[in-house]
Amino acid sequence: MFEQEIQSLQASGLYRRLREVETAQGPRIILNGREMISMASNNYLGLANHPKLRQAACYAVNQYGTGSGASRLLSGTSVLHTRLEEEIAGFLGEEAALIFNSGYAANTGIISVLCGREDLILSDVLNHASIADGCRLSRADVRIHKHLDYDMLEKRLKASDKKRYKRRWIVTESLFSMEGDLAPLSELADLAERYGAHIYLDEAHAIGILGDKGRGSASLFGVEDRITLRMGTLSKALGSFGAFAAGDRDIIDLLINRSRPLIYSTALPPSVTAASRAALELVQTAEGDQLRERLFSNIRRLAQGLKCIGFEGISGQTPILPVVLGPVRKAIEAAQALYEGGIFAPAIRPPTVPRGQSRIRLSVMAQHTPEDLDAVVSVLGQFVRGSLAAGPNL
Ligand SMILES: *Cc1c(COP(=O)(O)O)cnc(C)c1O
Repeated sequence: MFEQEIQSLQASGLYRRLREVETAQGPRIILNGREMISMASNNYLGLANHPKLRQAACYAVNQYGTGSGASRLLSGTSVLHTRLEEEIAGFLGEEAALIFNSGYAANTGIISVLCGREDLILSDVLNHASIADGCRLSRADVRIHKHLDYDMLEKRLKASDKKRYKRRWIVTESLFSMEGDLAPLSELADLAERYGAHIYLDEAHAIGILGDKGRGSASLFGVEDRITLRMGTLSKALGSFGAFAAGDRDIIDLLINRSRPLIYSTALPPSVTAASRAALELVQTAEGDQLRERLFSNIRRLAQGLKCIGFEGISGQTPILPVVLGPVRKAIEAAQALYEGGIFAPAIRPPTVPRGQSRIRLSVMAQHTPEDLDAVVSVLGQFVRGSLAAGPNL
């Protein structure tokens, strides 16, 4: 029925397929029957297969069963959900928190409640698809600015008549998922205050790894009190599943009353909720500190290696290291070369990244060995030399 659509995806190199992993997520995985170094997950601290999380999940299954039975507002709110929310609020120093079934559900379900027809949303062009969808659902006026172009953002704030809009929102990721760069939040908070705008901050990739004890980028920049609402995921560095909003009590209460993914979807199951609680506890311990230290030492090693083979401008501030290659075909060939070298790091292509900026997105884990990272640099180095030899058109 859709042969034409599929063929056109294949012809443009944008066809995607699912690949089966036979092991737990970790620095090494078995993919299509072969052991590979995984440079493709957001499991930065290796918590997705940590004994403490596994234990917590098993205990919760034995104690509370497998399903949560209903939406939170029907009969689905368990003591595990409530405790987790209190712990998140405490961790971030906010009045209240609310958990969601995924980061995708959170962004669509929060932005569509906080922002409406009478509001203006100013959104970074590289914001995650779930943010873009939340903006659409909100029916607010949405203006997109260039990535981290705060001059452009300021012009938009200046140009938008305060009286015309009930509220003006700046919506941004703190650690951008495909660039690995950080939004300069102090500057952003200054701008927001100057123009009376609110900030909605997506900390999906920052929670667990940035800031004191992994409290995120707002904590790293010391701007927690200047952000109206923070969102984060439990599925990336925290190695579990789900997401949260954290902020003032009245916002959380409004979300409980209005957010459709919360109202019309079954609550997170006990195993997942218990694993999230264990992860949140773990990142605040000395073990959490050690994992972050190992992670950042690995990041520095890989960034340095990539610099040596000609990939400049990779900041190495975060575990996401984009190796931008340009054309779709080149990114696919690099992914293939890595694959043949025993390294799993898929090509990231449009529409996930803008046209002409196809790339390999390397994500580092605390558990990668120096040899793992050196292997990545070695294969990419060979690929770059090979493609230079093949001519500039490649
Ligand atoms: C991954 C991600 C999400 C979605 O989170 P899930 O829990 O995977 O649905 C939202 N925002 C950003 C910036 C992300 O990278």
